[in-house]
Amino acid sequence: QHQKYIRNFSIVAHIDHGKSTIADRILELTDTVSKRDMQDQVLDDMDLERERGITIKLNAVELKYHAKDGETYEFHLIDTPGHVDFSYEVSRSLAACEGAVLVVDAAQGVQAQTLANVYLAIDDDLAIIPDINKVDLPSAEPEKVQEEIEEVIGLDASNAIMTSAKTGLGIEDLLEAIVNEIPAPQGDLTAPLRALIFDSVYDDYRGVVLSVRVFEGTVKPGDKIRLMNSGTEYEVNEVGVNSPKPIKRDYLMAGEVGYITASIKDITETRVGDTVTNAAAPAEEPLPGYREMNPMVYAGLYPTDNAKYVDLREALEKLKLNDASLEFEPETSQALGHGFRVGFLGMLHMDVIQERLEREFNLDLITTAPSVTYHAELTDGSEKDVDNPAEMPDSSELSKIEEPYVKATIMVPNDYVGAVMELCQSRRGEFLTMDYLDKYRVNILYNMPLSEIIFDFFDKLKSSTRGFGSLDYDVSGYQTSDLVKIDILLNGEKVDALSFIAHRTFAERRGREIATRLKNIIPRQNFEIAIQAAIGGKIIARTTVKPYRKDVTAKLYGGDRTRRMKLLEKQKAGKKRMKAVGKVDIPQEAFMAVLKTD
Ligand code: GDP
Ligand code: MG
Repeated sequence: QHQKYIRNFSIVAHIDHGKSTIADRILELTDTVSKRDMQDQVLDDMDLERERGITIKLNAVELKYHAKDGETYEFHLIDTPGHVDFSYEVSRSLAACEGAVLVVDAAQGVQAQTLANVYLAIDDDLAIIPDINKVDLPSAEPEKVQEEIEEVIGLDASNAIMTSAKTGLGIEDLLEAIVNEIPAPQGDLTAPLRALIFDSVYDDYRGVVLSVRVFEGTVKPGDKIRLMNSGTEYEVNEVGVNSPKPIKRDYLMAGEVGYITASIKDITETRVGDTVTNAAAPAEEPLPGYREMNPMVYAGLYPTDNAKYVDLREALEKLKLNDASLEFEPETSQALGHGFRVGFLGMLHMDVIQERLEREFNLDLITTAPSVTYHAELTDGSEKDVDNPAEMPDSSELSKIEEPYVKATIMVPNDYVGAVMELCQSRRGEFLTMDYLDKYRVNILYNMPLSEIIFDFFDKLKSSTRGFGSLDYDVSGYQTSDLVKIDILLNGEKVDALSFIAHRTFAERRGREIATRLKNIIPRQNFEIAIQAAIGGKIIARTTVKPYRKDVTAKLYGGDRTRRMKLLEKQKAGKKRMKAVGKVDIPQEAFMAVLKTD
């Protein structure tokens, strides 16, 4: 066994362009998974991944390929998610590879995340194999896409592989290209061990399972290992590879991707990005790790049934074992009772966590509108970090509020420059620069409040650029803003979980919009409900939900009993995601209403 015959690669693409299906075909063609065990998107092993048809976690598998040159190669394939929220998973997998297959849909062409992901691979100096997929589609235009890859990304696409992951066409060409164009790993087998942890999961039987890329040296069962940044030491129980089921090995050597178990019980000690070395003969320097991922948004999660608080805490603790980026701490709301303030990498991440909690742990939850973290300076000279709008002090006590700003990089074909600028301007963006990347594409830089881009900016950008807008952003620091807190009152009672923060210039308008929106969301009850929006005690808007006059169902559906029962059942199901605040039932939707813009 020799490094010369190893190839480590990732598949990157815009979402839905066919990464996981290509991985399926590769596993099939190399007999890694038998026909009998084959199912679609076999690497997406989480229920939620299978149902939504998206990849959330990265996945590494080893497979053997008998190439046309007569040799047998050991491939390590890492499938990655395509969505921005999970680009952190993508950059982690790329750091473990020498090459990447860039999949582009032959009908859709280069899209937002094609660019974002290929640039990650280019930044990492990976060899890139362009693969134009779905050539079986009647709407496929492979030559046009080839040209686009050259013009827009600047990659030579003359040798792009043409595949149909649906029919299997071209998959063998792809495997040959991986052998010929992706360099074999290098790395001294006799040097002290240095292995990068790119993922970790908790397994009830084996403890923490570390996914590693060995860069130097070797590791085998019985070795005493040290995690260089955390400083903790363990004895290795087992090393091996996933194929895709775990297969034990005698050792892992420089160049290989595999797993290590060492009876590690606490996943917090095993941060991804840390370097594993040998405790007896340690390396001098750790490998360059990953950039620290801080949550971008915080939201309150509350069980609809207060008795489920402890269950929610246990569920969050278990999920954290599988998702180190998850952060949470207890929080109490007057309106919602006991719950948790949870930090997320973005809105899809929040969605996924909420859904996993409800589904895997059988909980009914109310999620409050997510918020960024504000810095408040008080008139008494003290400072406060506020990640829950309800906790923002009254403006009489405030001397200053700062909010996080980002430098947003937006890439679009030049036809859409006007639309992008209009959108950024409406979100308080300050124009910085604009450069032509080539004759078709423009790179626009804006300084923008994080709160303005994190919620629906990406969707808006996509719809106003027909999907071609690509967005990337980096937090650039805090800036003072003229922000105010808007409170919502129901029948005169402030509902803390509905408070939100807005810029003073938009505050009154937003207050009115939201009072109107809530009026349409909160269901009628047998008494009148007054909805008010207020800024610092001053009422700026009022709407009313009128009480029922009679039994609505009786009136509407008179004699038709089955339809009436159906309606009642539907109402009952809808109730599950409601929270009684005082006497008023507030549906989940209401808590998100404060985020929506038209
Ligand atoms: P991913 O998000 O990049 O992992 O994409 P998936 O592999 O989940 O594929 C997205 C959708 O495209 C699925 O419905 C696939 O069945 C379909 N698909 C993938 N490859 C092909 C192909 O070559 N031809 C056709 N017609 N459909 C494909
Ligand atoms: Mg996928």
